[in-house]
Amino acid sequence: MLRDGFNRAVDYLRLSVTDRCNLRCVYCMPESAPRYAPGADMLTDDEIVELAACFAQSGFSKIRITGGEPLVRPGLPSLIGRLSRVPGIADLALSTNGMLLPDMAAELKKAGLKRVNISLDSLDPARFSRIARFGALDKVLEGVEAALDSGLTPVKINVVVARGMNDDEIPAFAALTRSRPLHVRFIELMPMGETGFFSEERWVALREIMANAGPLEAVPPKDRPLGHGPARYYRAPGALGSIGFISALSCGFCASCNRVRLSSSGTLIACLDATRGTDLRGPLRGGANRARLKALIAAAVRGKPEGHAMDGRLKNRSMNPRLMCQIGG
Ligand code: SAM
Ligand code: SF4
Repeated sequence: MLRDGFNRAVDYLRLSVTDRCNLRCVYCMPESAPRYAPGADMLTDDEIVELAACFAQSGFSKIRITGGEPLVRPGLPSLIGRLSRVPGIADLALSTNGMLLPDMAAELKKAGLKRVNISLDSLDPARFSRIARFGALDKVLEGVEAALDSGLTPVKINVVVARGMNDDEIPAFAALTRSRPLHVRFIELMPMGETGFFSEERWVALREIMANAGPLEAVPPKDRPLGHGPARYYRAPGALGSIGFISALSCGFCASCNRVRLSSSGTLIACLDATRGTDLRGPLRGGANRARLKALIAAAVRGKPEGHAMDGRLKNRSMNPRLMCQIGG
């Protein structure tokens, strides 16, 4: 397994299969369509599978498919089937806004997908549409049910919390976990991309989110939902599901970071907050063999920075120029 320069084991790949999205969430994308990468720059299925094999041979065992919205990539079930057969990949998960899940969940499960995280920021239909700018709450809720019915479990619900956007809904989201096996994860807003949305006023600190989530008890490790990320897990007493918290700014998650990202156009990004990456598409299309590609991956992992630089940006409002949908958030 690869280790970075700070002795962190890195075995988790967030694999973006598209920078396109059928929604435009206010904190993630600007209202007008961002400048998408040209279609010719997007990795093909064959290229993605080849790079996944290089990562697997470098010791990566977990892949999360993300985007943009991964379900808008044509032929995704077939790509998932191929990724699920890459030797060494033990866990294959996907992050989605859920809009297309009602029609695709069963097919994705059959193809080899293990589990899904579904982004959902409001349980109020009108507010949902204001936050996501497109889309419909009932479709996403149908998607949640389809994921549960198809066995894409544990199903996690990702809720980005922002003041004045949905901070009054923390108790309602926490209540979702009481009678259903749903795992709600509250995510602190991050200063990513020139969306015009992030501000110190909108940012809600982890301790405030936790205080509003109601009585919580720690979940013992054996009962935690499968996952490899930075969430800390709790549950409401007697609840079927759990409540997790992901905080980039209040409690930096960098010390235990185990991941890198591959953009849909083939750039390996060693840190969520990095402004540069390692191009793998050029060498791949230029005929580089696996040994060369694996050497590039190892060098990028070695150069992984110790941590992000988001804290300073909370005050001075400067943004990482890349949008989350371009990085594969
Ligand atoms: N479209 C899929 C989705 O929405 O789940 C996958 C891609 S999306 C970029 C991945 C995750 O990043 C989502 O959970 C989203 O809420 C989160 N995200 C996007 N922008 C963010 C921001 N500025 N701060 C915190 N989380 C953000
Ligand atoms: Fe699209 Fe996901 Fe970003 Fe929302 S958070 S705009 S669904 S990529």
